[in-house]
Amino acid sequence: MIQFDLHVHSIFSQCGIHTVLELLDYAKNIGIKGFAVTDHGLTLPGGRLNSPFFERFRSPCPDVRILKGVECNLVNDRGEIDAPWHLIKFIDVVLLGIHPNTPKGLSADAYTDMLIAAIRRNKCIDIITHPNDVTYPVDYKRLAREAKSAGVALELNNSKIMLARTGIESAYDLVRACLDEGCRMAVNSDTHAIHELGLDDSVRPILKDTGFPDGMIVNRDEKSALEFIEGRRGNKVKPA
Ligand SMILES: [Zn+2]
Ligand SMILES: [Zn+2]
Repeated sequence: MIQFDLHVHSIFSQCGIHTVLELLDYAKNIGIKGFAVTDHGLTLPGGRLNSPFFERFRSPCPDVRILKGVECNLVNDRGEIDAPWHLIKFIDVVLLGIHPNTPKGLSADAYTDMLIAAIRRNKCIDIITHPNDVTYPVDYKRLAREAKSAGVALELNNSKIMLARTGIESAYDLVRACLDEGCRMAVNSDTHAIHELGLDDSVRPILKDTGFPDGMIVNRDEKSALEFIEGRRGNKVKPA
């Protein structure tokens, strides 16, 4: 079980089906320490962002910490992303992933270049989500090298493996690349349905098999997750 899940969708993404309050209630019941609500940026169809959530909401559950986040999309190949810049000062964690608004069928070099351009341009990015998406091949080693130098974590995404959306070998290759390059990882559920919250069963064996050190997982527990987030707080600014 992930103690502090940094990738969770709510009903504000077309892909999530639960409210933040339902997620909080479930988190309390299963005993996880906290999670980040990371709905999509507005480039994807059906996306919505709720300003009162970012500006005014405080968790009513003292024993479950909630972070406010966004999973951004690439806007173009120059590394622009669709972060809600007007809310950036309220945002704790910024994820970036390649999603269907980005053209399919390009080379691994092209997608890697896009992600690297985005990391360089947007200091606010904390985690690159699902780099092992079969639709958008990525050079894991080159990305891990760049992520490491920027203090960005690469995600080991439970949902993609659990739902067989990508092959398990891709996750092994990603973890080995992070290991070789000394890049930290975030282990996240990418919850779309509430019972997925905190799940890491599909990827936990990969970490064990590869000997990936627990100390290199940024959200290995509540303390490490919050230290990672707070350590990057000063980056939550719009690029000049
Ligand atoms: Zn995603
Ligand atoms: Zn997601």
